[in-house]
Amino acid sequence: MRYLWFLFLLLPLALSPFPFYLTLLNFFAISALVALSLYVLTGLGGMTSFAQAAFMGMGAYATALLTVKGGFSPWLGLLLGLLLSLLLALLLGGLTVRLKGHFLPLSTIAWQVALYILAGNLVGLTGGHTGLTDLPPLVLLGLPLDSAFRYAFLGLFLLVLFILALGNLRRSRLGRALLALRGDALAAASFGVDPAALRLQAFLLAGGMAGLAGFLYAHFLRFVNPTPFSLEASIKYLVMAVAGGVGSIPGVLLGSALFTGLEDWLKDLLPLFLGRQGNYETIAYGLVLAAILILAPKGLWPLLERRLPQGEGRLPQGEGLPETPLEGKRGEVVLEARGLRKAFGGLLAVNNVSLELRRGEILALIGPNGAGKSTTFNLITGAIPPDAGQVFLLGREITGLPPHRIHPLGLGRTFQHPHLFPELSVLENVALGTYARTRAGFPQVLLGLHGQEEARALATAYRALKRVGLEDLALERAERLPAGQQRLLEIARALASGASVLLLDEPGAGLRAGEKRELARLLKSLAREGYTILLVDHDM
Ligand code: ADP
Ligand code: MG
Repeated sequence: MRYLWFLFLLLPLALSPFPFYLTLLNFFAISALVALSLYVLTGLGGMTSFAQAAFMGMGAYATALLTVKGGFSPWLGLLLGLLLSLLLALLLGGLTVRLKGHFLPLSTIAWQVALYILAGNLVGLTGGHTGLTDLPPLVLLGLPLDSAFRYAFLGLFLLVLFILALGNLRRSRLGRALLALRGDALAAASFGVDPAALRLQAFLLAGGMAGLAGFLYAHFLRFVNPTPFSLEASIKYLVMAVAGGVGSIPGVLLGSALFTGLEDWLKDLLPLFLGRQGNYETIAYGLVLAAILILAPKGLWPLLERRLPQGEGRLPQGEGLPETPLEGKRGEVVLEARGLRKAFGGLLAVNNVSLELRRGEILALIGPNGAGKSTTFNLITGAIPPDAGQVFLLGREITGLPPHRIHPLGLGRTFQHPHLFPELSVLENVALGTYARTRAGFPQVLLGLHGQEEARALATAYRALKRVGLEDLALERAERLPAGQQRLLEIARALASGASVLLLDEPGAGLRAGEKRELARLLKSLAREGYTILLVDHDM
């Protein structure tokens, strides 16, 4: 099914009698590649970049300089272009991924503008606004790609490769982790996701993709100047992705196709309507975008998708991940808090709390609302740093460590208000729990080499769902579950993580009496197996 994307390669054949459309097709392939880089950043990672055109510029100028000024092969230009765009991504990402809210997009704007000005002003190097001309054509297997017809095959082929690679990414631990980060960074970190590191990697992937698109652009036009790499261009790519639906690959492709055509079409038609020349297309373009965003805030694709037949998801089969043995002596101290203290301004939420949790026991933290129970959980799990006191897990001091470092040491948690990812299935929500037990990195995932590990992760998640009695709902979207079952889902996620010490914040809230008895049975049997449980509940 997925390989149907290769049908894109028939397009140049179909359009071969229409040179104008062949040119558009090339622009579509290049734009779609940039817009797909925004699928990674924005659609999966929840970050906004206004600098994708600057990354393109890196790819374009690198190859232009090497080939025109140095007489080197374009493939060397590609190498340098990718290197430079990755370097820029490292720099920009390194400086920005820790920024919150609007600071990240704002800082990408600053970089975008700065690089644009630089390209225009380094006249000796870049030719300023006149640019560099006479780039050589790309030659593949002895065949010069010197026509729009031939070039379209290369662009579309690369586009299809990235469509498939990003599909792999979406169906992987990294895709889940990125989506989780976008929705709820604390929940993601509680299962071992290092937010800054993962965001940086997404930035690198997106930067590299845009750099590659810039390389393609340069050798297609065989001319570079700063204009196509301006802030306006960056906004155009963002518009394409958002209007089509940045949350999915087909959405981004749809947006790229529509807007690549639309812009040109408006350029031709508007002067006819208005009877004079001018950059009216920019205004019309803005109006079209505004209309789409008002009528379809998640983009056009989700509207269309609803009318398409929905494929049934499949339940995982086969073996799960290797069990982590619950080793150690019963009764030994596994978690210890000493003198924890936390004040929020003038409010002392946690004052000198000490506790010892022994292997195989169920310990409850009780107290009225606002007593500081959830805050104590947050201090132990690293979600917030304590003002004073220490925490030890399995003999190691973990005070002040971030949650993504604490979790892999064997601590799993649930939240008082479930932290789920509503657009993911119940199964995928639980599978996030296996993040720290799985290894596949970006290269492996993009190449689709993580299938076996992924199958085992999903099987592990399914097994955990069975344990809490939610297996029938595995393929439902998590947002459909009532609050009580969302809590059970969180317990399943903690179980799937392989953690042996579980901190459960009001796991019984919202459950009916019968369900609560079930839960009590489950917790007791977990404790018998060697799990250690610290829980908050009101029902004595
Ligand atoms: P419990 O879980 O026992 O009901 P909490 O630990 O959630 O209580 O809260 C303890 C107190 O700390 C409450 O008064 C709450 O309003 C306050 N509090 C909790 N988290 C924060 C925060 N991030 N900022 C400010 N006040 C907070
Ligand atoms: Mg609470």
